[in-house]
Amino acid sequence: MQPSGKPALPREKTIGILGGGQLGRMLAMAAGRMGFNTIILDPTENCPARQFANEQIVANYDNDTALKLLAKRCFVTTYEFENIPVSSTRFLESNCKIHPGSKALETSQDRLTEKQFLVSAGLNTAEFVPVLNRAELDAALQKTGLPAILKTRRLGYDGKGQIRLERENLDGMPEKIDDILQTDCILESMVDFECEISIIGARNMDGQTACFDPARNTHEDGILVQSVVPCGLADEITQQARIQTERLMQELDYIGVIGVEFFVLKTGDLLINEFAPRVHNSGHWTEAACLISQFEQHIRAITGQPLGLSCRHSNCLMQNLIGDSINDIAKYAAGKNTLVHDYGKQEIRAGRKMGHFTTISPRN
Ligand code: AMP
Repeated sequence: MQPSGKPALPREKTIGILGGGQLGRMLAMAAGRMGFNTIILDPTENCPARQFANEQIVANYDNDTALKLLAKRCFVTTYEFENIPVSSTRFLESNCKIHPGSKALETSQDRLTEKQFLVSAGLNTAEFVPVLNRAELDAALQKTGLPAILKTRRLGYDGKGQIRLERENLDGMPEKIDDILQTDCILESMVDFECEISIIGARNMDGQTACFDPARNTHEDGILVQSVVPCGLADEITQQARIQTERLMQELDYIGVIGVEFFVLKTGDLLINEFAPRVHNSGHWTEAACLISQFEQHIRAITGQPLGLSCRHSNCLMQNLIGDSINDIAKYAAGKNTLVHDYGKQEIRAGRKMGHFTTISPRN
């Protein structure tokens, strides 16, 4: 018994999750259904994952005491977003277990190391050049041409930390360019893609791999709005995307679920935009259209179990409810073939992911 009188959670059944947003929430739901307990580490009290987790440690991700406590109370840990300090995952690697490991996290935290890693693994990306200042930007633009995208190397998400440079606006935005160049950046050539797809892959401790069908994704202002499955592309293209995802997992010696985003060129060739070493927004549909969701697949992988089936029983469309569109959730919930999630976030903000729904239809 603990001092409070509450029985302690058995360590061998308890998973620690760094990050308590909607992804942590859905991981906690899947883990709970499979008989595991979860402890969330997140600095925000009553974060979205708290409602479905057994406990929350309210502390920053680099708090030594909190990390020690998590390592003591959990048999394995994982994370739901990329901006966890690598020093924290290294600590958990040495004092407990953490999947995916620090290598995948560290590589994906910096757009430059991520792209260099992809290239070294024989995978294609948009052309990119590291840029530290205005002079380097001018030189880099000679290589990429215009239009191009200038992105911060770290901490960018949902289209934040990037600006599009076009011939017409280049001279008119020196301040914006100077602002973004306060931090290390990369310049990417603008890809004239046919569409964007993503693959949710999984790899377990025995090296078993599984990939869900690719989703065709639509973004607005850099934020994912919709994922549709099947993606409607030729089998050779989707097969290529699977092969590349598997190669990436192999190269990273990966354990867990990964989200890999691709640009599909008009020629059918693929470029990898980025990968996320975690469950991914464009994989939410798996919960409605597959027997085993990305969340269950991740819990299976990190707890040393065999992976489940990754095939789907239905076609589907997943749509994010962003900002005040969450107020329409009852309308979607009224659909007989629609699964809804409200993330329980206290405050509605423009551009904030508040929930999502997935509508299924018979498989073709
Ligand atoms: P990111 O933050 O890199 O995932 O970018 C968000 C979205 O911006 C992507 O999903 C694309 O729609 C678009 N984007 C990013 N990089 C490029 C690029 N090099 N060429 C064309 N579109 C891009």
